[in-house]
Amino acid sequence: MNPSALARDQGISVLPAAACYLCGSRGRRTHAGLRDVWLGVPGEWSFRHCRRCRLAWLDPRPERGELPSLYRDGYYTHAPSPEPQRRGAGTVRRLVRTATLPPESGRGARADVEGGAVERLLGRALARSRALKDVANGSVMWIHDVEPGKLLDVGCGDGSFLALMRDLGWDVWGLEPDPLAARVALQRGLRVIRATIEEAQLPGESFGAVTMSHVIEHVPDPIEALRASGRLLRRDGLLVIVTPNAASIGRYWFGHRWNGWEVPRHLFLFTPRSLRACATRAGLEVTDLRTTARSAFRMLPNVRAHVRLLSRWPPTSWAWSGCFSGSTWLEPAHPVARQPAR
Ligand SMILES: [Zn+2]
Repeated sequence: MNPSALARDQGISVLPAAACYLCGSRGRRTHAGLRDVWLGVPGEWSFRHCRRCRLAWLDPRPERGELPSLYRDGYYTHAPSPEPQRRGAGTVRRLVRTATLPPESGRGARADVEGGAVERLLGRALARSRALKDVANGSVMWIHDVEPGKLLDVGCGDGSFLALMRDLGWDVWGLEPDPLAARVALQRGLRVIRATIEEAQLPGESFGAVTMSHVIEHVPDPIEALRASGRLLRRDGLLVIVTPNAASIGRYWFGHRWNGWEVPRHLFLFTPRSLRACATRAGLEVTDLRTTARSAFRMLPNVRAHVRLLSRWPPTSWAWSGCFSGSTWLEPAHPVARQPAR
């Protein structure tokens, strides 16, 4: 079936996008017949891939004006995050965080951020594991060793990350184009502007850090978004990006069922190489680019779900959908770019 025809028939206007965003060469169609198992946006969608740039992109892709309609009420940024976990992985993350954050960043912070003496001791012991330390540092977007200043979170969703950073002493600002998600963040008393990074009129060279967590894969012009972020950064500021890794184990394991595709909201998927290329073209200097075990904690429920499915054959379509929705996070590898401005 022709994916663009189906999308148009079901009310979503699309544009053909056969050429690579980075080099202009015609991409190879690698995944076709993909459906939105998360929110049920209609259509069958497909991805192309450029061998030279290692970039994957949606073709055809929804027109810009259609993008807001792809995020329905069920999207995860629209509801307030549950209270921080007090058991299991949540506790480990919190304890390690108390040990890895510099003491000055805890000034005036709530007890659950700063931790008591026993918690700090336990946290220091757990932080001897490099993987655990990385996971904990990921909850502050790896800016744990930066003196708190002015922080902008692009696509801040419900604002849970900003609320944590505020407690750690940062002067926090958020950008969120989605009205429902922005409202939740505003209810937390956060400064949130309803705009994309390209639309927002913020003073240049004013932020010490700009963060983009699972945002760059949603924007129609990633290089322009990176350039706009760079303009907002102070001379020594950092831009930290987290995005699904199209060269990850999950991507190869699940193939076309990998939820990193998340059609039709993910317009691009990056490998470390293609992310570096975009940042460089945006005039940023890449100082660190690596994968992380941050989402590995989420592997366990997924593995359990797979075992359960295998014992109940054939699985219902609902079970498959639930299983692979969760598998978005079966992603031991997320590229992270930290960039000083100019
Ligand atoms: Zn290319």
